[in-house]
Amino acid sequence: MSKLFPAYRASWETDQHRELRKHAAEFLSKEATPHQERWARQHQVDREFWNKLGNAGLLGLDLPERFGGTGGDFGYSAVVAEELALAHDSSSGWIVHSPIVAHYINTYGTEEQKQRWMPSIISGDAVLAIAMTEPGTGSDLQAVRTTAVRDGSHYLINGSKTFISNGTHCDLLVIVAKTDPSQGAAGTSLIVAETDDRLVGFERGRVLEKVGQHGQDTRELFFTDMRVPAQNLLGDKEGLGFYQLMEQLARERLIIAAVCAGMAEAAVLEAIRYTKQREAFGRPLIKFQHNRFELAELKAETLSIKTTVDYCIQHYIDGNNDPATASMAKLIAADKAVDIVDRCVQFFGGYGYMMEYPIARAYAAARVNKIYGGTSEIMKEIISRSL
Ligand SMILES: Cc1cc2nc3c(=O)[nH]c(=O)nc-3n(C[C@H](O)[C@H](O)[C@H](O)COP(=O)(O)OP(=O)(O)OC[C@H]3O[C@@H](n4cnc5c(N)ncnc54)[C@H](O)[C@@H]3O)c2cc1C
Repeated sequence: MSKLFPAYRASWETDQHRELRKHAAEFLSKEATPHQERWARQHQVDREFWNKLGNAGLLGLDLPERFGGTGGDFGYSAVVAEELALAHDSSSGWIVHSPIVAHYINTYGTEEQKQRWMPSIISGDAVLAIAMTEPGTGSDLQAVRTTAVRDGSHYLINGSKTFISNGTHCDLLVIVAKTDPSQGAAGTSLIVAETDDRLVGFERGRVLEKVGQHGQDTRELFFTDMRVPAQNLLGDKEGLGFYQLMEQLARERLIIAAVCAGMAEAAVLEAIRYTKQREAFGRPLIKFQHNRFELAELKAETLSIKTTVDYCIQHYIDGNNDPATASMAKLIAADKAVDIVDRCVQFFGGYGYMMEYPIARAYAAARVNKIYGGTSEIMKEIISRSL
């Protein structure tokens, strides 16, 4: 149940979603919120956090029961995405692992691949990452230069990737590579590398110093004649990668939108709490009409994000995997969340600029939502194709 809008219920939200929300909130308040500053200092979550997520049933929410998942709909992931933000988490790579990369394997993997990987994905024994972005290209995925050349029963992979979330912890890495560099989109394939210490030619580069999300292990990755079994190709033939990316990116954008809705709500709740308790000129900050009006506006704008995002989630749950709708959710939610978090910082004065305050960490973490998962400009490009 939303603390800011107690009567709010998304059209897709069932009693099961509500129970999950409660369970996730309890788990995160104990296992994620208290560790944020330490995780930020060490630039990664504790490895055992992944198994704790798995043991709590939070890694296989919309994945098949036969592999240990819950078998729920997309709303299960959306609920946890929101709760992560409401728990002031900016460290966990959960959104990359569970609602995003696991679905590449579940959707395009062969039965053998799924039997091999899905149980450990759901238990947290294997952490997932996806490597699309390269130093020379991000938005234009057709231009990736990493190559995967067939060599007997293996692919020989060469190239470099950057900004890869879960780059330290990942055990399974979905790599976007050109199996036919003479082609653009049609020469692109997705190949899963099992990135343990025995994988020759695989190198984890530096952990990147980001503006926010300091607890996230975001890294460069390098592949030098890295041999990956040909049977780790996703899909029954080469050249399907671009299509697979386009199909899955809608899901990624909706999840980021759900996180943004949670971030906006969390920031407004923090601001209300703080302005009731902090005094200036002999009265609580919330007693000043300017602050009440600003909070009123922020609350209304947060509701507008939630309803937009939930409309788009309902559309997706109804079976419409439509890129423009998912892009509208991300465009609006990211732009508004960045603005709302910024305006909430103001109520905290100097404390809003101190990283020990969740509102400051949220401010630093929010900005990237307009960049990753496809930039706001790319969202407009996609939406414009539906005009
Ligand atoms: C914290 C973080 C985590 C990330 N995690 C991952 C990850 O796990 N895996 C992964 O593969 N990537 C990841 N990324 C990369 C992210 O997806 C890219 O940064 C993003 O897609 C943009 O690519 P780029 O940085 O190369 O920018 P560019 O593509 O170079 O874009 C630069 C600017 O040009 C604009 N632009 C580009 N094309 C157009 C156009 N056609 N019309 C108008 N404007 C345009 C963009 O909107 C942007 O403003 C992550 C990034 C960050 C910051």
